[in-house]
Amino acid sequence: PAPSPDSILKQLQDSEVKFLRLQFTDILGTTKNVEVPKSQFAKALAGDVTFDGSAVEGFTRVEESDMLLRPDLSTFLIYPQFSREEGERGRVARLICDVYLPDGTPFEGDPRGVLKRQIERAERLGYQMYVGTEPEFFLFERTPDGRGSTVTHDKAGYFDLAPIDKGERIRREIANKLVEMGFEIEASHHEVAPGQHEIDFRYAPALETADRIATFKFVVKRVALEYGLLASFLPKPMAGVQGSGMHCHLSLFKDGKNAFDDPAGEYGLSSAAHHFIAGLLDHAEGMAAITNPLVNSYKRLVPGFEAPVNIAWSTSNRSALIRIPAKRGNSTRAEVRMPDPSCNPYLALAVMLAAGLDGIGQKMEPPPAIQRNIFKMTVREKRHHRVKELPTTLREAVNELQKDEVLAGALGEHVLDHFVEAKNAEWNDYSSTVHQWELDRYLDLI
Ligand code: GLN
Ligand code: MG
Ligand code: MG
Ligand code: MG
Repeated sequence: PAPSPDSILKQLQDSEVKFLRLQFTDILGTTKNVEVPKSQFAKALAGDVTFDGSAVEGFTRVEESDMLLRPDLSTFLIYPQFSREEGERGRVARLICDVYLPDGTPFEGDPRGVLKRQIERAERLGYQMYVGTEPEFFLFERTPDGRGSTVTHDKAGYFDLAPIDKGERIRREIANKLVEMGFEIEASHHEVAPGQHEIDFRYAPALETADRIATFKFVVKRVALEYGLLASFLPKPMAGVQGSGMHCHLSLFKDGKNAFDDPAGEYGLSSAAHHFIAGLLDHAEGMAAITNPLVNSYKRLVPGFEAPVNIAWSTSNRSALIRIPAKRGNSTRAEVRMPDPSCNPYLALAVMLAAGLDGIGQKMEPPPAIQRNIFKMTVREKRHHRVKELPTTLREAVNELQKDEVLAGALGEHVLDHFVEAKNAEWNDYSSTVHQWELDRYLDLI
C-alpha cells in the first residue's frame, strides 16, 4: 500500500531531504527528472508540478506542451549518498510519476501508462504478471580526460596487483547501494566477457520491476562514475565476445497461485502457459524492435554468444528464445532471453504481456519445444520444426513491429509513431555512414 502524502512529507522533513526528483521515462527509455526544492514538496506530492513536454524526446506536440507529473507514492525513496560532496549538499529523494495532460487525462505517450494499460487488461482476465530480470552490463575504463572507452579493467588490470579486482569491488558497492534502496539482490556475478557483470534482483509485479530496472541502470552508472569507470548497457560493445542481455522471467498469477504451473500438463505447464508462450513466439519479430531497440542490439543476436537467434522454445536448451527453467510450483516461469538492457523497460514488458495475452485470448498452441542445440540444426531441420529467425537488423524489426496489429495496439498510436520515426532516423543515419569495416575490407581490393 502506498504511503500517504502526509507521511512522505514527514519523512522528507525528518531526513532533511533538500531536493525531490520527480521521475518519468521518455519513449526511447531515457529517465528524465524534474527536481524541486523543499518549498515545492507539498505541491509535488499533490501532483501539481508541470513540465514542458516539448523538451522531451517523443513527447512533442507543441500545442499540448504543458504536462503534469502525478507521483506514484508507492515509489517513494530517499537516495543513499553516492559521494561525500553529495552528502554535504543535502539528501535527495525521488518519486516515479505518471504523466498527465493539463485536462487531467493520462498522456498516451507515457510509457509507464502503456504498461499500466496492459496490466489492467491482464487483470480483467484475472491475471497478474510477475517479472524477474537478469540485466548484464560492462564496466569500462575512462580516458584521462573522462571520456568512455571499451578498455575493460580486467585487461587494464593486467599489471594491477591489488588482491581484489576493481570490477568486483564496484559491483559489490552497487549491490550495497541497491539493498539500501530496498532491492532484494538474488545474485551478483562476473559474466563471461572481460569487464562484464550481472546483478539479479527479486521478481515482482511487472510495474514494480519496470520501475526497478530504470532505477537499477541509474545506480549502476552512478556508482561506476564514483570510481572513475563507465558502466554501459550497450548490448554489444565489443565484437568477438558475449554481449549484454536482459533475460526476463515472466509468470502469471491468478488468485494468488502461479497460473503457469500444472503438474498434469505437458512439461508440468498449464494450458495458459502454453498459450502465453505461443503468443510470445508468434509476436517475437515485432517485439524485437522494442526489446532490442538499437542498431547495435542486432550485433548481439548472432550465433555463438548465448544470445538467441531462433524463434523457438525449450525446457532445457539455452539456445532458444524462450527457456522454461526446471523449477515448478510458484516458480514456474518462462525465461525470455531476447531483450537487452538498452530497451525501455516499460514498453518491453508491455509488448511481452500483450503478446502473451494475445496467445491466451486466441488459445494459440506453440510449435513443439526443441531440446537440441538449435545452432547445430540444418536449414532443412529448422524448416521442418517451424523455427523462424529473429530480425537481423533494426530496420527489419521496425517493419515487423508496424505490421503487428496487436503490438501496435498495445503501444498506442502516439508511442508507435514517435518510436518508428526515431528508429527510422537512427537506421538511416547508420546505413548512410561509411564504416571503417568497409574501408578495411574493400578500399584496396576494388
Ligand atoms: N550474455 C548472454 C546474452 O547476451 C547471456 C549469458 C547468460 O547469462 N547465460 O544474452
Ligand atoms: Mg543469469
Ligand atoms: Mg547472464
Ligand atoms: Mg538467464
